[in-house]
Amino acid sequence: MQATTALSDKTLHYLHLEENYGAHNYHPLPVVLSKGEGVYVWDVDGKRYYDFLSGYSALNQGHCHPKIISTLIEQVQKLTLTSRAFHNDALGEYAQFITNYFGYDKVLPMNTGVEAVETAIKLCRRWGYVVKGIPQNKAKIIVCEHNFHGRTSTVISFSSDPDSYKNFGPYMPGFEIIPYNDIDALSKALQDKNVAGFLVEPIQGEAGVVVPDDGYLAKAKQYCEDANVLFIGDEIQTGLSRTGKMLACDHENVRPDILILGKALSGGTLPISAVLADNEIMLTIKPGEHGSTYGGNPLACKVAITALSILKEEKMSENAEQMGTLFRNEIKKLNAPHVGIIRGKGLLNAVVIDHAKSEAAWELCLTLKEKGLLAKPTHGDKIRFAPPLVINREQILECVDIIGKSLLTLA
Ligand code: PLP
Repeated sequence: MQATTALSDKTLHYLHLEENYGAHNYHPLPVVLSKGEGVYVWDVDGKRYYDFLSGYSALNQGHCHPKIISTLIEQVQKLTLTSRAFHNDALGEYAQFITNYFGYDKVLPMNTGVEAVETAIKLCRRWGYVVKGIPQNKAKIIVCEHNFHGRTSTVISFSSDPDSYKNFGPYMPGFEIIPYNDIDALSKALQDKNVAGFLVEPIQGEAGVVVPDDGYLAKAKQYCEDANVLFIGDEIQTGLSRTGKMLACDHENVRPDILILGKALSGGTLPISAVLADNEIMLTIKPGEHGSTYGGNPLACKVAITALSILKEEKMSENAEQMGTLFRNEIKKLNAPHVGIIRGKGLLNAVVIDHAKSEAAWELCLTLKEKGLLAKPTHGDKIRFAPPLVINREQILECVDIIGKSLLTLA
């Protein structure tokens, strides 16, 4: 439903082009963006918005961060791709940098998030056979209900969301789905000797920012260790300062055996993902057994070094923690109608809209757009509020004001 002011001819022109020539695999808000800087984006008519989605958390460092853009421009003029058939002078530097940064022996560079998840699954299975001694083709990976790990055929095989898996079968075997945040269910599933790994999001982002109970991750890691099972942390959305720590697992001092990163590893400039693990796991994959044409390209390597450096230089974890607490407190203080649950950590937050109309969250997002704030509903009634981590106090207060006024207009 189009609740608000008419769209400009310019906007309609772009919407029609996408509608006519692009696949219909997304349902975006009717806004066409052409510029971004920091926490702001501008549409083709020059209207400015706060970006409260941040490219699904790929833009933690803000739109077009000047240091990332300058690294990108510098490297793009020198060397962009060698493939892994040859060495390049950026990969080794990057590998050393990122492994020191996160404290692992080795990194395996990929591009999109889901490719890194696929890589982690392959690594885990390989470790299961060659190190743990699971009989061939019997390895199992435990996953959680309402997970979101991406869109490949393997990954949707263990999704519990029919939109993701329906009519895309047959499905990849070897996964067991257990309820999220249920330590007893995990303990039971771990009794199977053929379990090689437990793949988990420390906070379920796409499910609507579902935060597990305190202690869940630490216990889960301990249970995995006791059962000789790899704990695989998918920090693609939660990592890189988003939740107020460098990794969401850091809140419970949990070190995943396999760590998966993506999104903000490039600050929103190109697809860069990475899998980190120690030698016992990583060196089970030998030359020629896994790879990607673009994985580890020099442009990505240089950009990722800068993107990671900025997180620390600009204290983005600390800012996410402070601004996130301010945001949740101020939203609560509004006492606005239709606010159900407010949850989140750092600047990964969601408000569950309590309204009889199933379209209420969508309508609210249209009103927010009119008032200069972009956010998107997930799973019907939940709106994720996840601005770039460079947002400041005044901006948060202005955004809470916009959200409060928009809630009042919900009939
Ligand atoms: N894992 C998690 C936790 C995600 O949130 C996402 C994307 O939203 C992915 C994996 C997939 O990443 P990509 O879309 O880059 O393939």
